[in-house]
Amino acid sequence: MSLRARLTIFYTAVLAAVLVLFGLAVYGLISVVLLRQVDTTLERTARDLIFVARVDDEGNFILSQRVSLDSSVITQIWDSEGHLVGVNPSVEPDSPLRSPLDPENLTATDEVFRSVTVGETPYRVYTVPLITGGESIGVMQLGSSLRIIEGLRADLVRYLIVLSGIAILIAGMFGLVIGRRALVPLGAVTETALQITRADDLSRRIPIQAGPEDEVGKLITAFNDTMGRLEKLFATQRRFVADIGHELRTPLTVIRGNVDLMRRVGADDEQSLHSIELEVDRLARLVEDLLILAQAESGKLPMGRHRVEMDTLLLEVFNQAHVLSGDRVSLEIGKIDQVLICGDRDRLKQVVLNLVANAIKYTGDGGTVTVSLSKDGERAKFSVKDTGVGIPSDDLPHVFERFYRSDKSRTRGKDGAGFGLGLSIAYWIIRNHGGTIEVKSKVNKGSTFTVWLPLATKDCAEPTTSDLRELPRAVAQPERIS
Ligand code: ADP
Repeated sequence: MSLRARLTIFYTAVLAAVLVLFGLAVYGLISVVLLRQVDTTLERTARDLIFVARVDDEGNFILSQRVSLDSSVITQIWDSEGHLVGVNPSVEPDSPLRSPLDPENLTATDEVFRSVTVGETPYRVYTVPLITGGESIGVMQLGSSLRIIEGLRADLVRYLIVLSGIAILIAGMFGLVIGRRALVPLGAVTETALQITRADDLSRRIPIQAGPEDEVGKLITAFNDTMGRLEKLFATQRRFVADIGHELRTPLTVIRGNVDLMRRVGADDEQSLHSIELEVDRLARLVEDLLILAQAESGKLPMGRHRVEMDTLLLEVFNQAHVLSGDRVSLEIGKIDQVLICGDRDRLKQVVLNLVANAIKYTGDGGTVTVSLSKDGERAKFSVKDTGVGIPSDDLPHVFERFYRSDKSRTRGKDGAGFGLGLSIAYWIIRNHGGTIEVKSKVNKGSTFTVWLPLATKDCAEPTTSDLRELPRAVAQPERIS
């Protein structure tokens, strides 16, 4: 069953239930009001009669005084022996109205109202005990036919049923029409989703017709956002595969060429073997970087949680980095505070090494690279600042993406060129430590990479000996820096 039909049925059923309850309330209220009116008339008539009523010798009920009585009220006067001593003169001798209107209350000692059936006619009967000198001499029973009220009530029921039926019908029809109009955009969503599947075109979006604030508008916005994300993901995936293909091609071509050369020459050639070795190393590094990145992105990279003295780690990297910078770039230490971090020492060292190696790599001769570390509230802040080539502002938002190299012609294909994975790995390692990394840069002026990490808390474990082991991967080799 369609959503439209279900919604319509649901709302119509709710409306029907409300109308039934409303009808019952109206019916009950009107019945009570009408009955009270009859009771009031009976009471008033009884009050008027009690003073002027007499019974003649034939037992007929006569009035000693003229009073204007409601002609629809039947009045009977019964003595204490149960004999009818007075009744309206208009009542025929064989009429059932000469029998007690309310036989059960003939000996009543209190005034009482009751609904009864006389013959086939419903009556409302009011019994008033007649007492003189403290002694009961009989009762007066006044009855008023409820036939008109019954008729009114039956009419009311009929009207309520017919009007409710019409209301439900109209509501149902409106429900269907409104439902159709409201759900038209959903049809558009479905149609576009199908078109996207059929045409395999993730760039399509659903136009928002209704205001974006309503539910369907929100659904369309969410759908379009999801499509946007999917499109981006697929594009990244495609670019990733293309990049890997590209990265693999160069070393494989070199290896192939060198193998062919040796085969032609018919002997091992030391230089060819060295080239092959370099390329195999490069491939191994690429595979390792990719594995680390895949693990880091999915949060599955094994990550220790021990206290790390960041200042000691930084100085360690600083000393190692001298091999990379040589005399070409001046390596300086800025402000270094004592800072404790909770995390994986090897991974953090990998990040610092990568940032320092990059800074040296992308800084021209005579430039300066400055490393500093300080506390910033609850966080540690360390930065690597260089006076190098800088990164164009268009590239800045992308430097942490996989395989991203800001100036491809500058590094790609050169001996020792990076894969553009180092910063992605750094980004994920820092993220997995609950920190953030950012970069500020100006072309030809230099770049500053800043990392914020939460300070170690008391529950952070002491460092273990395994924290002191060296990284399996050397982030950069001196000869790789041009
Ligand atoms: P790579 O191995 O190519 O250096 P990274 O992920 O470490 O890969 O860096 C990505 C790109 O960001 C680099 O190719 C380079 O273009 C740019 N980059 C990184 N660090 C710096 C820096 N300190 N100065 C200028 N450019 C940088």
